[in-house]
Amino acid sequence: MRLTLLGTGDAVGTPLVGCDCPRCSHAKETGLSRLRTSLLIENGGKHILIDSSPDLRSQLLRSGSPRIDAVVWTHGHFDHFIGFGEFYRVQKIPPVYAAPQVLDYCAGYFRFLSFERNTIEPYTAFELFGVTITPFIVTHPPAFTCGMLFETGKSRIGFTSDTNRNIPKESLDLLHDLDLLLVDALVPEGFTIEKHMNYADACSLAQQLAPKEFRCVHISHFMPGDLPHLGTDGETFEFA
Ligand SMILES: [Zn+2]
Ligand SMILES: [Zn+2]
Ligand SMILES: [Zn+2]
Repeated sequence: MRLTLLGTGDAVGTPLVGCDCPRCSHAKETGLSRLRTSLLIENGGKHILIDSSPDLRSQLLRSGSPRIDAVVWTHGHFDHFIGFGEFYRVQKIPPVYAAPQVLDYCAGYFRFLSFERNTIEPYTAFELFGVTITPFIVTHPPAFTCGMLFETGKSRIGFTSDTNRNIPKESLDLLHDLDLLLVDALVPEGFTIEKHMNYADACSLAQQLAPKEFRCVHISHFMPGDLPHLGTDGETFEFA
């Protein structure tokens, strides 16, 4: 299984439109931007997209134009589902998997598209193309939001891009023996955002769960660029 970070940015991305801060200026000069956070999982020639960001078109082009076989939505925020319309006239609209309240909300927005809708339940594993996916509840008020555990062969990957540090115990209990943890770090240490973690929160969660590797995602332009464990757009990971 191969996992690609299609984007590692927050809801507005880096560079932020109209911003001339050092991070945004650097991103504009170098082209090293942070598109909105989403993941591509490839297993056995099939492609699963985790969240359909507003940057989906450029993310698909940058990653070699894979045909997407399924989409999983974590929650109904703009930056995680709104790019789904980019499949229109590009490929068959892929089937979507999401918790009932997420599916209702997001699919309602896309009522002009015809596609297969599948409900999933927190803490109930389902399988897509050889990847076992277990949604787990995180805390991202007021939106009902799931993180996802991906398992294939002997590998375990935990992902949550939108949560505060107060993740339910039942969810944390799932995230043992991870090969990779991908976790929300919106802002640097010292910032407090009610619905997200800061860098120190992300590091403390990683210390608690002790994954083999971890990367921060959903990173805003406030974050310095030189901290350890920051994910980068296009970064890929291979798993047995
Ligand atoms: Zn988000
Ligand atoms: Zn900026
Ligand atoms: Zn969100």
